[in-house]
This record gives sequence, C-alpha cells and structure tokens, in this order.
Amino acid sequence: TVARLQPFSSTIFAEMSQLAATHDAINLGQGFPDTDGPAAMLAAAQNAIGTGQNQYPPGPGIPALRAAVAAHQLDHYGLQYDPETEVLITVGATEAIAGAIVGLVEPGSEVVMIEPYYDAYAAATAMAGATRVTVPLVADGDGFALDRDALAAAVTPDTALVVINSPHNPTGTVLSADDLAAIAAVCIDNDVVALTDEVYEHLLFDGRTHTPLAALPGMRERTLRVSSAGKTFNVTGWKVGWISGPAELVAAARAAKQFMSYVGSGPFQPAVAVALNSEMDWVAGSAAALQRKRDLISAALADVGFGVHRSEGTYFVCADPRPLGYHDGAALCRDLPGRIGVAAVPVSAFVDHRQPWNHLVRFAFAKQDDVIAQAADRLRALA
Ligand code: PMP
Ligand code: GLN
Repeated sequence: TVARLQPFSSTIFAEMSQLAATHDAINLGQGFPDTDGPAAMLAAAQNAIGTGQNQYPPGPGIPALRAAVAAHQLDHYGLQYDPETEVLITVGATEAIAGAIVGLVEPGSEVVMIEPYYDAYAAATAMAGATRVTVPLVADGDGFALDRDALAAAVTPDTALVVINSPHNPTGTVLSADDLAAIAAVCIDNDVVALTDEVYEHLLFDGRTHTPLAALPGMRERTLRVSSAGKTFNVTGWKVGWISGPAELVAAARAAKQFMSYVGSGPFQPAVAVALNSEMDWVAGSAAALQRKRDLISAALADVGFGVHRSEGTYFVCADPRPLGYHDGAALCRDLPGRIGVAAVPVSAFVDHRQPWNHLVRFAFAKQDDVIAQAADRLRALA
C-alpha cells in the first residue's frame, strides 16, 4: 500500500461488523437498516432486471433518474438543476465524494472538513494527494455546533474544497441556520467550493427541516451537493448516489468518476427514480419511525448510565460511557461484542484529535424495535 493510503487499510465499519459477526452480536455499529424500502421501488428493480435493463447505463446515469433527482430538489428546496449537465449519477455517495475530491483538488492543496468526519472524505483527500484540515464540532448543550472561528481560520488560499456534512455522521447534528450562514460567508469570502454530503437530508427529527447549503444566497454556483438512495430508501446495498451542481463542477467530478466505475447499479437506477418520484410519503413515515427508535435507544442508554447526546437526525446517537467508568471508546467497542453481544463504533475512528472525542461511542438505531429492545437488555449488563 502506498504511504498515503496506509492509514486507510481497513475501515472501522468493516472491523466492527466482523467482530459483531464473530460474536453473533446485535450490530449497532455500521449504519444500515434491517427492513426493506418501499414495495413499489423494490418491484421496479425486479421489473428492470426482468425486462433486460442489465447492461451499462449511460455515463451520467439514466435520463429518468437524472430528471427525478432534479425534480426532487426543485420540489423540496426550490433548487433548479439541469438534468442534462448539472446532475451526475454515481455508485453511492461514496463515489460522488471521491469523484468530486479527485476531480477538483490539486495535489498539495487542502481540504477542510468538520471533525468528526466521515472516513470517506479523509480517504479521498489522501487519494488526491491533498491534506486534510479539520474544523471541530463543539459542545452545544447536549448537542453539537460548528466552531465557526476555527472554520474561518482553517480556510486559506491553500484551501481547494470545504466538505460539509449535515445531518452529520457520526453525531446526528443538524447544522443551525447560523452555522450554515457562517459557512457560506467563509466560502464566498475566500472564493472556495463547497462539497455538501446530504445523504441524511430526509432523516430529521422533532420537526426539523433540512436546508441545503446550496440554497443560501451566492452558494448554488459554488456548491456540489451529494446525496444517495441508500439511507433515504433503505437500500444501502444498491449504491445509487448522485451529485448536483453547476455544470463545470459536475464535469470535474464526472471526469474522475468515469474512471472509477464508469457506470453502475443499472437496474437500480430506474427503481430509485420511481422512489424519488412517488415514495416520499414512505420516507416521511420512515423518519417518524426512526425518531421513535432514537427515543428508544437514547432512553435505554441513559437508563444504563451513559451520558446521551441529542441526535437531531441520521441513524446515529452518540453516548458518553465515562459515568460507567469507561474512558476509551475504542477499547469499549472492541470489548462489547464478546462481552455483552452488542456492537457499536467509536467516534475516535472519525477524528485526528483524540480529545475531546476519545470516550464517545456511536450507536446506529435503524433497527426493528424488538432488536433495539434486545440490545437495551444486553446493555443493562454494563450498569
Ligand atoms: N456519507 C455519509 C455521511 C454516510 O454516512 C454514508 C454512508 N451511508 C455515505 C456518505 C456513503 O453513502 P453511500 O452508501 O451511498 O455510498
Ligand atoms: N455510512 C455507514 C456508517 O456510517 C457505513 C458505510 C460503510 O460501511 N462504509 O455506518
């Protein structure tokens, strides 16, 4: 392995899922749901496979899906994108992120990202031969907010790209309107492009609504917006993602994407188009169910004695095990599957600075209620 990829030889999700499998533990580590998405979408995929839609789709994605992606953003956010030139279908959000970073970032330049950061941003930055610069989330009541002064200091003439993720993995934070405005101001003042990872855009709790950074004044023309079907429609294995933005920026991501996978997920593309066009009510129901699951796991963790952070969206809640005497989240996560039959993920896997994150543990709650109840029973052994 080349030196710049050595830190990425394995992922925390693979490690913890492996441990979960070895110990037959309930896997609240890697974030994926344990129920299927809308029936009409599943039927559309089966139909596509049964009717010969099994060869290479067009490079930018099938027209029906690009049209659905554009219509969806107009509907939800009033954002207008030309499906011909401003939408690119990718192999999951992962490829959208890698394509954008490799296509836009010169070796030796800097990519600014929020810490904790989803591992794919760091890996793609390394693949591009660039350096990551982190801007921390800071405590805000029982939740988190952006350190805006740190952001302003992090963005310099060396910055090629600012990566923003809201709703945020792993903390479940939804960035406030003030934080988004501060990000926009920094990007505009420094003439920098933003890459926004919005894969959890529809999984929000307690009546919150999602605002894409691209919807702020002056930002559409400098933002590449990424989302994917995996989390919205419970199909993480389909790997259908997309990127939207001004034609010139999308073209840069496309140049890289063409030689990563060329194309992908042929028969799943028409199915995701069906889902975007007609299954958003299903998604609203799914988000409501997730809010209940967040409440179940949060209450159970608090009951056991964890400090529980507020999760405002996503599949995830972060918990502080220090009241139970555990100060090293990674050690605890290595221990939990064998000891009590539950797997989780340490937040330290998403950071460069161990403090103040070292203790924190992320639990994924997109699971059936009885699975969460069983995990809660097992966690009680820690009390
Ligand atoms: N970004 C974030 C924040 C994620 O949590 C994930 C995992 N769903 C991804 C990107 C990758 O998405 P996909 O599975 O569509 O590649
Ligand atoms: N996004 C998922 C998570 O954060 C995992 C995806 C993966 O395994 N790379 O748990």
